[in-house]
Amino acid sequence: MRVCRTITDIRTALEPCRDITVGLVPTMGALHAGHLSLVAAARAECSVVVLSLFVNPAQFSDPGDLNGYPRDEKSDLAIAAEAGVDLVFAPSASEMYPPGFQTWVEVTEIGARLEGEHRPGHFRGVATVCLKLFTIVRPDIVFFGQKDAQQVAVLRRLIADLALDLELRALPTVRDPDGLALSSRNERLSSSERVLALALPRALATRDPERARALLESAGVGVDYIEIAPFDPPVLAAAVRVGTTRLIDNVSLEEDS
Ligand code: AMP
Repeated sequence: MRVCRTITDIRTALEPCRDITVGLVPTMGALHAGHLSLVAAARAECSVVVLSLFVNPAQFSDPGDLNGYPRDEKSDLAIAAEAGVDLVFAPSASEMYPPGFQTWVEVTEIGARLEGEHRPGHFRGVATVCLKLFTIVRPDIVFFGQKDAQQVAVLRRLIADLALDLELRALPTVRDPDGLALSSRNERLSSSERVLALALPRALATRDPERARALLESAGVGVDYIEIAPFDPPVLAAAVRVGTTRLIDNVSLEEDS
């Protein structure tokens, strides 16, 4: 597995791959089984699998949240190699946002609701960094998790609106056996908070925004939002605060279970 830190490096590494299927799995690291399900899907469908590791400062509105985001590159590289990644793109912030950077992409409507309302500028940062990753790597297929259903909706819109020549695959949310969706942020939960956090999948399982909100509030979990979102498929989406950790999750409203 080769690790590239600059745009020039990764472009050079990908030069011989232009006639084969390139898959890209964008991540912010602290890799877990959710990320690995995306790598496995990419591995199954693509000749070359590129994983990006980049904690994107532009999508964090809170500097404390950015600084506290879990980072362990050494372990991530070992996990990625084991999972069969061919190329890792792990740029510095100044490689992605050089001095004078001032070009932003905004998916105006979908990006303004839910997460966008509670984290102003979040999806502008996501859309911009993803478009930049797409133009650097030029993947045929990109792999994202349905865990971030709004992110999928924003990026699908971006790809359609800008006529990008790539396909997006959205993969199901990987959960711990007790139902909690895997997230790099789970590392920050204490053991008692981890128990409290289970109120989130339980609330979503009602598939009813009012019952779900009541369940979360009675558990003592702070609710940023819990709403039906008209994505494809429609989901019941929520963001909650457990102690100082903010968790998001959603369930499809089209499944029977
Ligand atoms: P992140 O590193 O949190 O930015 O996530 C990178 C990618 O992994 C995104 O497409 C996420 O939606 C996806 N992802 C994160 N958690 C999960 C999960 N539990 N199951 C499936 N995909 C996930």
